[in-house]
Amino acid sequence: MEISEKAPAKLNFSLDTPFRHQNGEQEWKMVMIAVDLADYVHIKTSKKLKEITVKTDSGFLPIDQRNLAYQAAKKLKERYQIDAGVEIVIDKKIPVAAGMGGGSSDAAAVLRGLNTLWNLGLSKAQLAKIGLEIDSDVPFCVYSEPALVTGKGEVVTPIGDLPPLKLIIAKPRDSVSTPSILRRIDYNAIEHQDVEGVVEAIKQKNYSQMIEKMGNALEPITADRHPEILKIKQKMLTFGCDVAQMSGSGPTVFGICQKASRAQHVYNSLRGFCKEVYIVSPYSMS
Ligand code: ATP
Repeated sequence: MEISEKAPAKLNFSLDTPFRHQNGEQEWKMVMIAVDLADYVHIKTSKKLKEITVKTDSGFLPIDQRNLAYQAAKKLKERYQIDAGVEIVIDKKIPVAAGMGGGSSDAAAVLRGLNTLWNLGLSKAQLAKIGLEIDSDVPFCVYSEPALVTGKGEVVTPIGDLPPLKLIIAKPRDSVSTPSILRRIDYNAIEHQDVEGVVEAIKQKNYSQMIEKMGNALEPITADRHPEILKIKQKMLTFGCDVAQMSGSGPTVFGICQKASRAQHVYNSLRGFCKEVYIVSPYSMS
């Protein structure tokens, strides 16, 4: 039995962390969206296979138990005592360690795919709860539609479609380790965000209010070490984006335009400046 799952990248339209739990985990408050830049995860299961294996065309990924897609298969196999192996092939398109949740989305794709192949009948909320044990972004990736994400990442509340818009994504050369950024948060100095304001604007399909309220509390922390982020942001705004900000813990920067023609102009102009640039639309799995 086999299935192929789309694993879209995510972007943070709003990101805040109100506090850190005593066990060191972050409390999150985020507006997350999925985009049509996606990995494709091919999943095969059979009683003839005994192990979980991962193959990928990307040279940047671990293919052993460190791979988040592997961990997702292992969790379901052990929890539901499934006597079958799993072969996972990841067709990687999302830049790695970029703040776009590529690993989490691959893991969510495996959870969705095996839920179908093994007839587990688990709801999205149940898959999200299992996904949280892998990474805080996995619960959102199970849904992959515009959502308010709170708690440690497990409370995912869909908020409906975005107003019409186009996104330009630029990935600077550097990669960023999320834990190294989270360790540097100073809760006395962090720039808290109006996350509810972004949720309200999206619910009302109010584009100008949405871009006015957007922001990422981690951006000053990452940009301090990776100044290229601010340079790309400035270029995006100069070329015509209405807003530009970092996603997740970075270093990926995205800009937003209302009109496709303007987005195309920004994309063309940025390509001379940054090697990895994408022009994408929002994506919703609902
Ligand atoms: P996040 O924003 O969720 O912290 P990210 O988008 O910055 O993540 P990922 O591309 O998910 O980054 O990669 C983070 C780390 O996870 C990398 O060091 C990578 O080696 C590891 N990893 C494990 N499995 C995967 C996978 N299937 N795809 C991408 N990275 C993976």
